Amino acid sequence: MEPCSKIQVKQPSGFFKLGNTYCLSIQGEVYICIGPDWPYNFCLGSIVFGANLFFLLIMAPQVDILMQYIGLFIYMTSMISYIITALKNPGIIFNHWEIELEETSNNKNYCKECSVVIEKDSEHCYECQVCIRGYDHHCPLSGKCIGSGNLIPFYIFLVSIFCGIFYVFIWIFLVAASRRA
Ligand SMILES: [Zn+2]
Ligand SMILES: [Zn+2]
Repeated sequence: MEPCSKIQVKQPSGFFKLGNTYCLSIQGEVYICIGPDWPYNFCLGSIVFGANLFFLLIMAPQVDILMQYIGLFIYMTSMISYIITALKNPGIIFNHWEIELEETSNNKNYCKECSVVIEKDSEHCYECQVCIRGYDHHCPLSGKCIGSGNLIPFYIFLVSIFCGIFYVFIWIFLVAASRRA
């Protein structure tokens, strides 16, 4: 964003609350953002972490090395992509501090809920109370919105979950076959 000469702009740094989300910003750039549904992050995060532990301690020792690597890749991917989805800024649009409100309120592309100039594909989320760039949906299980900033890790997470479930069926089949042999 190019600062306009007549508007004083401060770059926010550190932790602050934006709408119902908690942000960590460094020199005006929001890097980490935790949503209003953050308790779900602990629930789903624990389940994903538990699945990783279960794989490492129970499942992996009973299959051959190739299956161990495939399983490790799937379960680690699910955990890492979930952490990134839950923490990464989904694309919150915000004004740098102290932008003149009159300037923005005359603009028809202006969100009255959170006082920002909206962009194409952006949408206001009433749960998070912020406008999200490339809004996809509000995902309670991720604790917040899915937008252009965290859409790719979110899809990677979904795919890895399906692969993880599929892997369990293959694993049951392989273990049952090896016990019969
Ligand atoms: Zn808004
Ligand atoms: Zn939201």
